[in-house]
Amino acid sequence: MPFPQHLVEGYSAFRSGRLQSEQDRYRELAETGQSPDVMVVGCCDSRVSPEVVFNARPGELFVVRNVANLIPPYAPDGGAHGVSAAIEFGVAALKVKHIVVLGHAHCGGVKAYAEDAEPLSPGDFIGKWMSLMAPAMEKVGPRGNLSPADYLVRLEQANVANSLDNLLTFPRLRKLIERGSVAIHGAYFGVATGQLSVLDRETGEFRPVAK
Ligand SMILES: [Zn+2]
Repeated sequence: MPFPQHLVEGYSAFRSGRLQSEQDRYRELAETGQSPDVMVVGCCDSRVSPEVVFNARPGELFVVRNVANLIPPYAPDGGAHGVSAAIEFGVAALKVKHIVVLGHAHCGGVKAYAEDAEPLSPGDFIGKWMSLMAPAMEKVGPRGNLSPADYLVRLEQANVANSLDNLLTFPRLRKLIERGSVAIHGAYFGVATGQLSVLDRETGEFRPVAK
């Protein structure tokens, strides 16, 4: 199978459009290196691209994406931890000032976990990965009278809060947060509405950033 034609066409449009206006910035960033202030931990979901949602220019966001925007707890166990490595690099090398965990509506990973979906493969990487969500699910409690859709929103938002809690398990990062050198934020993107909400950690509620 050849390289997808729509990607070639997309690149051509980028080259004649955005690259023209950003060329100087790309050159400068190539010389000076990147120094983004903000790190975003987002979901792999093709509808929730942080650079698109935040209208970001090259060099502005340091992004790591994984299924369901999860952050595993600090585990210096010799394993290969991709998300933890990215957090370490963002904090220690790039010295980002903000870490934003960006959750979203209609998250397939959260839905599969909530519905106890069958493993996709004998390896079942997703099942194991999504089990990081267990504390969030416990906090939300049983579905009770909530509609399935409302229950999923609760879970998606609790999952963002749980990822923030896990950030605090990284000792070096925790110190920086306590000192006020790094701030952590939870955000939630409504795919259908395009609405961005930000977590108020005092009340535990997500509030829209713009009406
Ligand atoms: Zn998702």
